[in-house]
Amino acid sequence: MQPKHSELWHHLTEEDVFEALNSHQHQGLDASSITERQRLFGANIISSRAATPAWKRLLLQFHNPLIYILLIATLVTFFLQEYVDAGVILAVVLINALIGFIQESKAEAAINSLKNLLSAQARVIRDGQVQTISASELVPGDLLILASGDKVSADIRLYECKDLQIDESALTGESVASQKTLRRLDKDTLLADRQNMAFAGTLVTYGTGKGVVIATGDHTETGKIAHMIAEATQIDTPLTRKIHAFSRLLLWVILGLALATFAIGLLYGMAATETFMAAVALAVAAIPEGLPAVVTITLAIGVRRMAKRNAIIRTLSAVETLGSTTVICSDKTGTLTENQMTVQAIFAAGHRYQISGSGYQPEGEITPASGSPELGDNLALQHCLRAGLISNDSLLKFKSERWQVEGDPTEGALITAALKSGLESADCHQDYPRLDSIPFESDRQYMATLHATPQGEKLLYLKGSVEQVLKRCKEQMTSQGQTENLNSSAINAQVETLAAQGLRVLAFACQKLPSEVNNLDAFQTHEAEEQLCFIGLQAMIDPPRAEAIRAVATCQSAGINIKMITGDHALTAGAIAKQIGILSAEESLDQGKTQKVLTGRDLAEMSDHELLDCVEQVSVYARVAPEQKLKLVTALQAHSQVVAMTGDGVNDAPALKQADIGIAMGLSGTEVAKEASDMVLTDDNFSSIEAAVEEGRTVFDNLIKFISWILPTNLGQGLVIMLAILLGVTLPVLPVQALWLNMTTAVFLGLMLAFEPKEPGIMTRAPREPNSPILSVEMIGRIVSVSSLLLLGAFGLFQWSQSHGASLEESRTLAVTLFVIVQSFFLLNCRSLSRSLFKTEMLSNLWIWGGIAAMLLAQLLFIYLPIMNQLFHSAPLSFNYWLVMLAYGAAVLLLVELEKALWRRHKIKQA
Ligand code: ADP
Ligand code: MG
Repeated sequence: MQPKHSELWHHLTEEDVFEALNSHQHQGLDASSITERQRLFGANIISSRAATPAWKRLLLQFHNPLIYILLIATLVTFFLQEYVDAGVILAVVLINALIGFIQESKAEAAINSLKNLLSAQARVIRDGQVQTISASELVPGDLLILASGDKVSADIRLYECKDLQIDESALTGESVASQKTLRRLDKDTLLADRQNMAFAGTLVTYGTGKGVVIATGDHTETGKIAHMIAEATQIDTPLTRKIHAFSRLLLWVILGLALATFAIGLLYGMAATETFMAAVALAVAAIPEGLPAVVTITLAIGVRRMAKRNAIIRTLSAVETLGSTTVICSDKTGTLTENQMTVQAIFAAGHRYQISGSGYQPEGEITPASGSPELGDNLALQHCLRAGLISNDSLLKFKSERWQVEGDPTEGALITAALKSGLESADCHQDYPRLDSIPFESDRQYMATLHATPQGEKLLYLKGSVEQVLKRCKEQMTSQGQTENLNSSAINAQVETLAAQGLRVLAFACQKLPSEVNNLDAFQTHEAEEQLCFIGLQAMIDPPRAEAIRAVATCQSAGINIKMITGDHALTAGAIAKQIGILSAEESLDQGKTQKVLTGRDLAEMSDHELLDCVEQVSVYARVAPEQKLKLVTALQAHSQVVAMTGDGVNDAPALKQADIGIAMGLSGTEVAKEASDMVLTDDNFSSIEAAVEEGRTVFDNLIKFISWILPTNLGQGLVIMLAILLGVTLPVLPVQALWLNMTTAVFLGLMLAFEPKEPGIMTRAPREPNSPILSVEMIGRIVSVSSLLLLGAFGLFQWSQSHGASLEESRTLAVTLFVIVQSFFLLNCRSLSRSLFKTEMLSNLWIWGGIAAMLLAQLLFIYLPIMNQLFHSAPLSFNYWLVMLAYGAAVLLLVELEKALWRRHKIKQA
């Protein structure tokens, strides 16, 4: 149930809206009415309607030429009155479809469930307090606060907005962001034109606003059409598509061969039914049915492993792209560094001050450098500290035993510095109430606030990057509070010494304004001509993350280039890059000569050509505007690099979309950035990117391992049957037996390769070429040799036992069991494609051993259980046969190891 008037919210007056919703414009809802409404309206969740219903997906499992053939085979055997055979084939078909269905659904569920880890938050006013809650707890009547970068979590009627622009393309298809106003609108205004409303699922691209929630969950406009845009996770990727195409091709080739077999059989004068069954056996034996399902499962396992290491995959193809990433472009602040800012130095009125203390805890001393006046005697310093405290959108809180910032760490550090000087936060905010503000944006590099002073004047504070602030200053403040001409060279000299130590430097300025000024509109329009008074610098340390230093080194040894992209000062960026190992210690930071650090200005002046020439060599980009990230991504891609790029802001979205892997920050990132990304880091930490790359490479490895296991086994089985037909001898493997082999070995043996842990040295080899063929020459060679060994073993054993008086059932059981045994041994070989099995840790993947044990058990039942003998035409084997088969399996294992060793030698020689 939702409030009435639902069609007219845009037409009502604000008062009527609040009245209809029984809410209050400043207080919002109170606790008791929220519980009541949550009971009444339910959670703010759009109920998911699966894109394809389960029964349809189950049926789709049968939509496959092989299944059709098997169904025909069932009919044929049925009419031949081989009822047991018909039943077994049918049962196997059903079980197979069921297994496929379960595997696929599980993989899909695993991938989909990750989305819930990225639950959205909403900022609301309840009981007169601003609170952050889970978006699912919103109820009609709640007051929702919107800021640039947010995803709107419910349908709202706006009652406050400032330059608010919302991208509603998800809802209306209109790609230009909609400009919001508070105007009452006509009754029949179309949805796309309802400018005084904002809708769930749309993205705030600019400005701020507040609105009262009028609909939640399925009752929102998006909820109403959710079935149309049911956002099913794409579970195919370039690789899976390649593999699907390959399996389809294989399918037709094998069906062609089966048909040829049928024709040849008839030519040889064999009975039609017998030849038909031989052709069916061939098709069943040679087609790798398990392949597509295992590929999906392997990807799903990779996704889960990445989630455990703080990287949430949003598009499945990222899993494999990660394995071939060649360049990672990373933010500095918060990703490579701790984002634990502490002001360590202040410069005001020409004097230097040190601040002691660590973290956000407001305990420490401000000590003047020798010859500088004390804090009490330096008015510029006091101004600078106060500006840091009140020209600030963040909060410092003592929570769970420690001081923490709510908001921007840069601003948190400024609050701590001010508190250390003895300023009181509440008093300052009361004495200098804020009248207007221009919030900080990376593009602008500054923040401005307008305050009323206790003297009844108006005061503007500006804080931001040194370049942006100094550009607007004409004067500077002395320690007595007087003004004098700006000495920018002295200031810049200070900035350079501070930044060269890796400190992040913010500059501060102020301006007294006439008392009639009440907003910053004039400042915004005439900002180029502003003539402010410089009051000081604050320099803060942001130490590199220890784990990022390690991760950067690992990536570099893995042939991945790391580039730092930051809005910070070139010298600060360069110094941090050196500490982290992105620049080597000897590399000169002198921009003019070596060009190891480029700034946003350099980028703007360069032609596309010049950028292309240097983009691969330069690894630090400073003072970069978000828009320029896109330019960098495309330039790198023009060099065929596979680029991963991090981002958090609204303006990072285009670059995130363009990058091969867009990586958004889970903690500090906006919803807009997350929406545009392929992967979200839940801890904002660079080392999680490295972890994801490692997992991506492992997934790819395991896929290849599985493929190089399954193809020879299928090829071997197919060859046995073809050879029998060509030679005109009895079939060593019956269709039902081929079905048994295929079904059991893929599930018990092959699948276990998906659980292989990463190989040592996985991060010391070069990234995979994205367009390289899935199978190397080496792999193809192995597939051919192993299938030949399988052919030799099974066919040989069958013929030899026949000539030594074994029954047909016994000989066939031997052939089937030989496959099982050789495939088990070969599974061990496949645990590493090139490393020696004897150097692989035997117990690092217990699934393998569990799988082999289960397979053996199943095979024992197949051999010795009378009912299985009846169903599958098998027969008990004597002990001696086991010795022969085990010896043969061990021989195959050793031969493959020998072949691997030869390849290793060959590669060393080449290198
Ligand atoms: P980064 O890539 O380091 O996160 P940002 O784009 O956030 O860079 O910041 C760019 C510059 O803007 C900083 O070097 C600093 O001088 C200034 N700055 C950063 N945060 C704020 C803020 N909250 N208020 C004012 N200026 C800021
Ligand atoms: Mg930042």
